[in-house]
Amino acid sequence: MIPYSRQSIGEGDIAAVVEVLRSDALVMGPKIAEFERALAAYCGTKEAVVFPNGTAALHAAYFAMGLKPGDEFITTPMTFASTSNTGIWQGGKPVFVDIDPATGNIDAAEIERHITERTKAIVPVDYAGTPADIPAIKEIAKRHHLVVLEDGCHSLGGSLGGRKIGSLADMTAFSFHPIKPMTMGDGGAVTTDNAEYAERMRMFRLSGIRKERFEHPSDGAWYYEMQELGLNYRVTDIHCALGLSQLKKLDRFIEARNRIVARYMEELREHPALEFVHLPDGARSGWHLFPIRLKGQWAGKRREVFDALRAAGIGVQVHYIPVYLHPYYERLGYARALCPNAEAFYAAEISLPVYPDLTDQDQTFVIATLRELLS
Ligand SMILES: *Cc1c(COP(=O)(O)O)cnc(C)c1O
Repeated sequence: MIPYSRQSIGEGDIAAVVEVLRSDALVMGPKIAEFERALAAYCGTKEAVVFPNGTAALHAAYFAMGLKPGDEFITTPMTFASTSNTGIWQGGKPVFVDIDPATGNIDAAEIERHITERTKAIVPVDYAGTPADIPAIKEIAKRHHLVVLEDGCHSLGGSLGGRKIGSLADMTAFSFHPIKPMTMGDGGAVTTDNAEYAERMRMFRLSGIRKERFEHPSDGAWYYEMQELGLNYRVTDIHCALGLSQLKKLDRFIEARNRIVARYMEELREHPALEFVHLPDGARSGWHLFPIRLKGQWAGKRREVFDALRAAGIGVQVHYIPVYLHPYYERLGYARALCPNAEAFYAAEISLPVYPDLTDQDQTFVIATLRELLS
């Protein structure tokens, strides 16, 4: 099976991990800060804080902004469930705003009318790697004193207007799962220029413990205080060593993904049954996914096309079932047809294989199989 995405691991990555295994510190050692500095430098931010996965990173970001029961946050349904799940863990209520079908991203023009006096944050997702319109979203946030948390789990390595993803929003969360732009095995991070947010996230991942800025007088050198309800979101040096090694290759990975997508576009652009997402002006995508949508005489036949591609050995996937359609969200009271554009997008979408080591030969097979199916 040709997967829709997969990691690219080299001998250098393996050596970096083995080196840590021979060292003294396996967890919360020197590789943590080293990776955080390297990621912050790459994104052009003052701070980066690493986590065991992207879900934990998002959770910590909601904690850092002070999201609490009764607060609302505005987000998109065209995403993995973690984007809103983690806000719910902090007591917040997601308000889903429909997407712009041209990009698959939250429709910035629709946001403002969903803002209430309880809104605390706007949480856009860079669907498939396409940067959300963060400059427009920040303008709205500024008018209403809201925090912008960008879910950049698809978009590390991309940019908008010459600025790297990670440096645009108040906080940006990344995932380093094997299918994402680069991997730590499992891993995540939040980048920010806000030192207070970074400090709160570091406290959150240590069960809410501070080793300075005490509320009570210190009892002695051993003393620490648990001041807020945190979790064990510690990261290992093993994972961070892999992250450091992968980060050095990230730009090459992004180049390769762009090359593969350019070929898909060149060979499939004119196809009457296919529709693609559009990159906004000034945007560079990391192309975590390559989403196509069926139209014309193939509209409504996604299931058949999907099954036929799978049967041919092509590991396509669908991104995404709109989050509020899941039973958990249904039980919270979200109704069908809440975001018609997202539901129509979902009904037509298939993600084709795109990853740095996809061979020309395999891509030729994917294109030929798809053409034949849709002929
Ligand atoms: C992968 C992903 C996450 C969660 O990341 P994990 O590392 O799997 O926890 C969150 N949001 C989006 C959009 C993702 O694609």
